[in-house]
Amino acid sequence: STVLVTGANGFLAVHLITELLEQGYTVRGTVRSLSKGEWIKNKFASFGEKFEYLVVEDITKEGAFDEAIKGVDAVLHTASAVPENWVGTYEILYVPCVKGTESIVKSLQGSRTVKRVVFTSSFTAVWGPHPLGYTYSEVRDWNDTASKLIKEKPHELPGSMLYFAAKTDSERAFWKFYEEHKDQLAWDLVTLTPPYTFGPVIQEVPNASTKMIWKKAFKDNPADQVGQHAGFWIDVRDCAHAHLLSLQKEQAGGERFLITGGAFTWQDVYNELQSLHIPEIPKGVETKDVLDIPNTSKAANTLGMTYRTLGESVRDTIVTLRERGINE
Ligand code: NDP
Repeated sequence: STVLVTGANGFLAVHLITELLEQGYTVRGTVRSLSKGEWIKNKFASFGEKFEYLVVEDITKEGAFDEAIKGVDAVLHTASAVPENWVGTYEILYVPCVKGTESIVKSLQGSRTVKRVVFTSSFTAVWGPHPLGYTYSEVRDWNDTASKLIKEKPHELPGSMLYFAAKTDSERAFWKFYEEHKDQLAWDLVTLTPPYTFGPVIQEVPNASTKMIWKKAFKDNPADQVGQHAGFWIDVRDCAHAHLLSLQKEQAGGERFLITGGAFTWQDVYNELQSLHIPEIPKGVETKDVLDIPNTSKAANTLGMTYRTLGESVRDTIVTLRERGINE
């Protein structure tokens, strides 16, 4: 069957397309420019006609995806601006994510071929300020704070909150449309809420979350806060695999999934990187905070998700960046 992957040249998407092609799917990817399309076409050259790309310059335009979804059996919508160091404006971080989602939903409305749509949301759409040790669940938790703040003062928020609101509002809009129209739709919806994503960098341009590890390992001077709860994490290969399972498992339709390998501190990352024997990587200062707890039983039971270890994931990030001579 044929699958559309939006944002095909991204960190996650390149892993996802690799697995889709290896499993025999035909893949159409959308990118924002010809040069990005040629890069990725070249990357998957060994799969010949099984991979093609389409340039969608501006995903926010009405009808932007009309051509791209023609004849495909499923859509994996991964395209979104992801802020580096949590920096960015309303126009860069919020608008394209929400308007891009509106636009793909409109294109999908009348499709008779698409049977499943998987939307890459984010744990930032689940997160809320809760006391540490809180147990998160995909059924109960939404980032209502971000949604509220963006309505009140869209142009005064920091990049982190703009991104949180973008992911929350676009995921919510997808569900709202789906719930209101599902009787007339040929497809059903799955959303995934991955957290900080680490792992091998195989795309052309390094992305925000792996740059963050590089910065921590080689640029930051760890202070004694490194033992504090940093968030949840997932390996990009596991995240890609969750997308594939979301496509394949009948019973995943209509469900939202929390997927994560667990909670981490930056001290955990320093500890895991020591076995690379790179003298520049600091040892940190051992302290340990209370950590949040994810309830990932739904993804385990419905999708059959299992996870790589944090050590494998962060070591592979550093190793692949170094192999390619990327030092950021
Ligand atoms: P990347 O930055 O590597 O990839 C993002 C993709 O989206 C690229 O193809 C990029 O295209 C495209 N994109 C960015 N801005 C726009 C825009 N304004 N219009 C159209 N396309 C755009 O990020 P990831 O692979 O890490 O992220 C993939 C998805 O996973 C995103 O939806 C992100 O929110 C989600 N996610 C990521 C996490 C992480 O830690 N990395 C954690 C949780 C969720 P271009 O190259 O042209 O900019």
